[in-house]
Amino acid sequence: MTPGAPSGPAGATVLPGFLDAHVHLALIDPAPLIAGGIARVLDLGGWTPGSLESASPESPSSRGSGEPQGSPSSPPPVEVDPRAGRTRPQVANSPRAGAGAGAAGPAGAGLPEAVSAAQFLAAPGGYPSGRSWAPAGSVRPVARATDAAGAVDAQHAAGASVIKVTLNSAAGPVLPRDVLAAIVARAHERGMPVFVHAEGAGQALRAFRAGADALAHTPFSELLDDALVAAMAGRMAWISTLDIHGYGEPDDDFDRAVGNLRRFHRAGGRVLYGTDLGNGPLPVGLNRREIDALLSAGLAGDDVIRALTAEHLGRFRNVLRAPDRPGPARQGPDRKGPDRAGPGRLVTLLSGERPADPDAFSAWLCTARAVEPAEAAAAVAAVESGESGESAGTAGTAGTAGTAPVESGRRNGHSGPEQSVGGAPPPGL
Ligand SMILES: [Zn+2]
Repeated sequence: MTPGAPSGPAGATVLPGFLDAHVHLALIDPAPLIAGGIARVLDLGGWTPGSLESASPESPSSRGSGEPQGSPSSPPPVEVDPRAGRTRPQVANSPRAGAGAGAAGPAGAGLPEAVSAAQFLAAPGGYPSGRSWAPAGSVRPVARATDAAGAVDAQHAAGASVIKVTLNSAAGPVLPRDVLAAIVARAHERGMPVFVHAEGAGQALRAFRAGADALAHTPFSELLDDALVAAMAGRMAWISTLDIHGYGEPDDDFDRAVGNLRRFHRAGGRVLYGTDLGNGPLPVGLNRREIDALLSAGLAGDDVIRALTAEHLGRFRNVLRAPDRPGPARQGPDRKGPDRAGPGRLVTLLSGERPADPDAFSAWLCTARAVEPAEAAAAVAAVESGESGESAGTAGTAGTAGTAPVESGRRNGHSGPEQSVGGAPPPGL
């Protein structure tokens, strides 16, 4: 009954490193992520002052942040779940748990690359202030527009590469328009994109009007009208996080989110795969339910691969991909070309080639492991050298994901991101 097995036991496919664009590193043991197929993460916040720096030996703490020191030993909270009732803070790891991942650091020590936000910026008393899982210091209240620059600068100084803002009118006061605009303006001056948790009627619209770059969750509070969805698709990214709405038992919020995402995608909007990992019963690795939900929202297989392999967020070229040298992403080189798969840059290795049966697609994706390029090359070489069998060593390359090629050790002249070896070229799903 499980159409999940790859269509061929032999074969291997190499893709750019998969990204989970919404995680909370501090609330999980990130060690299984690599084996679970996640090469990169966007760590969307909840750190207390000082904790991000201490968790990231390569972050520029020596610059001095001017921030209160807080308590580096207090566990950072998770931003959580859209609804309080779903909040399930897990046992936090020590701040060192994310040390290997670091803020905007390269992959190393078996951990994914990570690009991080620091505190949540919110209205005084706004979400998630006062939540039991949110220790004092994890939310930076911004009362006035004139406070915005200082708040953004403090995140920058703490090693953050992105800004996380909460606009949750269902849970408390939200930032007024002028304050929100000032935050976005300063963040952009700093080269930092703004990710917004928008919840409650009208909050997604407010985030959009303020110039936010991405929504941390597909809007789920309300069905947005087509005109707004189309406008958002023109200049915003949405992080999917569909599975948090029921964790396999879809609820009304799930249906609204899928309804919004379907039209956003159809309108050409940029969808990023993200799970809100650290919040609720989610696998530490690729989440097949999230992939299936994306497919249910009308994304084709190629679209899902794009959502997993995105490397740029609009003009922010170093946000979804950490630089390959220690240091904050904003100071890193603007990587381009094949060197993305160079030392320290994990790629995705999948078992077998992409299945012809669309029903087997998500199961095939979930065979993913994040590996060093050399390991991927060895796997490809092994297939080529002996196990090609009936396929006579054919190598199919489908340039479907629209991203940079990866170095797999096989040079066949193609520049597509996907290299399948040991079977027919993958069908377009
Ligand atoms: Zn979250």
